[in-house]
Amino acid sequence: MPQPDRKEPATHFGYREVPESAKDGLVSGVFHSVAGKYDLMNDLMSLGIHRLWKQFATEASGVRAGFRVLDVAGGTGDMAARFALRVGWRGQVVLADINRSMLEVGRTRLADQGYAGNIAFVQANAENLPFPDDHFDRVSIAFGLRNVTHIDRALASMFRVLKPGGSLLVLEFSRPTISGLNRLYDAYSFNILPWLGRVIAKDEGSYRYLAESIRKHPDQQALQTMMEQAGFERVEFFNLSGGIVALHRGYKY
Ligand code: SAM
Repeated sequence: MPQPDRKEPATHFGYREVPESAKDGLVSGVFHSVAGKYDLMNDLMSLGIHRLWKQFATEASGVRAGFRVLDVAGGTGDMAARFALRVGWRGQVVLADINRSMLEVGRTRLADQGYAGNIAFVQANAENLPFPDDHFDRVSIAFGLRNVTHIDRALASMFRVLKPGGSLLVLEFSRPTISGLNRLYDAYSFNILPWLGRVIAKDEGSYRYLAESIRKHPDQQALQTMMEQAGFERVEFFNLSGGIVALHRGYKY
């Protein structure tokens, strides 16, 4: 594991401190390793509930026929597929992800499911999106933001490519709001998740990182403030499953 040195700012990778320049590579390692089993693991870990969270985000996006939508950190394409059904043949969905393995699994999976023509796949870092200013009607990032090295830069980049009048949807793990849920949730996250990772994905460490990265991510209020600082207005959030996950939505004017 790379150690922070005094000349370079440090960041977190799960509970470990690492040099900022190392984080993208470490996160990449996680997703290269889990890409093949990613969808199966999502269903097992959440008992399929991640589909409801994603459906809620899709409904809240207001995506309509003809829209141009960017799904950042789109991975294996769950959100992109939902958006593609809504934008229809006149619209377009761009799935951007930093990780080639996740993009390859996503491209094959969506082609197998019959999605064609209105989804493009782009390898890109959320912090530096290679798209023009004011380009997309909607931008979403689902379970991706906690993995980026500089959340503020990713929010600024997504703000830049969004059209005035458009909105950003951030779906991410957050802080449980129901008392008593925390202890149960911790026991599940730090015991069952790594165990599932070991048995199914043959990678315990990546699923330990998942549990740790969730704890390091800003809570509902903190993320709302960061979105406002990036320029988003009317920022609000919706707690899902007792705050285990939150959907944040903010507009660019
Ligand atoms: N959005 C998908 C979903 O909801 O199933 C995938 C989420 S997966 C937990 C996180 C994704 O974020 C991975 O595909 C990973 O490659 C991607 N990612 C991590 N850091 C990124 C970055 N800096 N820029 C773009 N994508 C990134």
